[in-house]
Amino acid sequence: PQRLPFANAPDSDYAQAEIRDRAWQTVSQVRQQLGQSYQPWINGEFVSTQGTAQSLNPSNPDEVVGTVGLISIEQADEAVATAKAAFTAWRQTPVAERAGILRKAAELMEQRRHELNAWMVLEVGKPLRECDGEVSEAIDFCRYYASEMERLQEETAYDIPGETNRYHYQPRGISLIISPWNFPLAIPTGMTVASLVAGNCTLLKPAEVSSVIAAQLAQILIEAGIPKGVFQFIPGKGSTVGAHLVKHPDVHMITFTGSQEVGCQIYRDAAGLQPGQKHLKRVIAEMGGKNGIIIDESADLDQAVAGVVQSAFGYSGQKCSACSRVIVLESVYETFVERLTEAVRSLNVGDASKPGTQVGPVIDGKAQQRIREYIAQGKQEGTVAVELASPQPGYFVGPIVITEVAPDATIAQEEIFGPVLAVLKVANFDDALRVANGTNYALTGGIYSRTPSHIDRAQVEFEVGNLYVNRGITGAIVSRQPFGGFKLSGVGSKAGGPDYLLQFLEPRTVTENI
Ligand code: GLU
Repeated sequence: PQRLPFANAPDSDYAQAEIRDRAWQTVSQVRQQLGQSYQPWINGEFVSTQGTAQSLNPSNPDEVVGTVGLISIEQADEAVATAKAAFTAWRQTPVAERAGILRKAAELMEQRRHELNAWMVLEVGKPLRECDGEVSEAIDFCRYYASEMERLQEETAYDIPGETNRYHYQPRGISLIISPWNFPLAIPTGMTVASLVAGNCTLLKPAEVSSVIAAQLAQILIEAGIPKGVFQFIPGKGSTVGAHLVKHPDVHMITFTGSQEVGCQIYRDAAGLQPGQKHLKRVIAEMGGKNGIIIDESADLDQAVAGVVQSAFGYSGQKCSACSRVIVLESVYETFVERLTEAVRSLNVGDASKPGTQVGPVIDGKAQQRIREYIAQGKQEGTVAVELASPQPGYFVGPIVITEVAPDATIAQEEIFGPVLAVLKVANFDDALRVANGTNYALTGGIYSRTPSHIDRAQVEFEVGNLYVNRGITGAIVSRQPFGGFKLSGVGSKAGGPDYLLQFLEPRTVTENI
């Protein structure tokens, strides 16, 4: 059944010179504000910390974007205790009021769109246009989950003569959010506001390298009127504070987006029953991908090349949805590779804060090193079709396309999270599907084809959470393309979809004999 369309927030129209100018002026203005300090927000107060971390601009690591206070284990315990204290009042707060806070947050994001974009450009090296789409997504999450909770608060009656049966949802309790840096606004916003509107007291632990943007989100929620103790902003070390909170007996659920390694660790740690713990924890883990696009002999190759380039090199390949394998039928392989190579050659790699940049840096030196190791390995496993230079001084990795890669090669199996694309040649469509499905992941996938029987088969047999036909495979839109995968890509939850909030809720039935 078709649902009423949700009204998504429109992106900035940069074709209008006035909007474009304002956007870039804001980048310059925000640049003047770099180097400030940001503090955690616990029990309604900004608190000082012993530890701090510096967040750097990956396009130019000499630029310190900000210094963020890192909480201690004691402060983490205090945040949990104050969240517990705030829970009774928050769960009783009418849904309309909770939803109102989300809508207010959306309005503030709309007002600060250019500013939020600028912080992202400078803190995570994401090109402006992609940041702008992210602000739209964050706004959509607020508005969509607000109306979803209004829908879900209605109890359902399953009455029969002599007996009423009422089905309804209640919040789970204390909820921990562990968010990634690659969508530093949209993902923490989505996970946090879903948890909050469902009535949970929520602690947000952002990725260290994007904590300044997370601090802007915290500021917005505070201004939107979130009560003290209900939301707390707790930057801290994942290996100490994060691990401690995952095991904390008073935490009811953990929502995580990030690597498979950390996701599996959280899943395992959350499963153990701690002394005094009286519940099982719910874990929502959204992890990696090794996403493939199939190009068959009937594909429109111009369309296919454009879609593959965008999906593989958008935000330097640092999306769990990114295309890292393109699986091409023998008959069009050579033509496709030729055109792909030309298209990649013309990509503009550079500082994300320069207009015209299409591919920015990767997030930090560690990522750069890891990706370079994969590239070295990939050069053993295939043939370099094109490799672009890496500008200085930032954490750049030039986009690279490696062809003649075998399906079981490391670069065809492991998530690289960088601008590295493997091209695989297959003899027929059966092989294409088999190779496409031959990884541990099942997140996104694509097919370029004008053969209805191939498209039909892909719909049934291509094992991914989000399948895209004749278009790129990134940039899922709230409510239109609920996003998330299965196998080792995650627990099967769909961000921005109609089932998402259910994970933050506990269903109950009340039966009355009358
Ligand atoms: N939702 C994003 C997309 O569709 C990807 C999110 C991620 O990389 O975690 O491109």
